[in-house]
Amino acid sequence: MNMRHTSKANAAGKCENLIRYEINDDCTGCTKCAQRCPVDAIQAKPYELHTVDNELCIKCDICKQICPVDAVEIK
Ligand code: SF4
Ligand code: SF4
Repeated sequence: MNMRHTSKANAAGKCENLIRYEINDDCTGCTKCAQRCPVDAIQAKPYELHTVDNELCIKCDICKQICPVDAVEIK
């Protein structure tokens, strides 16, 4: 594995496949992410704070790109 681009990787040495997608309080519950997620890792709950099921999430980044209020964070 090429680690040159991860010189600032966290102390535990975690790789990219262990990142998590999380939705913060800025979420307006527009459901756009839930509608676009290819693996249904986000359940649509209109006007409520949405959450990512990281067991299902394949890190495709669509939710982060589609979110109109930038509420999706990569942890
Ligand atoms: S990154 Fe992709 S798979 Fe993961 S929750 Fe977002 S849209 Fe779904
Ligand atoms: S797209 Fe953004 S604002 Fe809309 S439900 Fe998803 S996280 Fe919330």
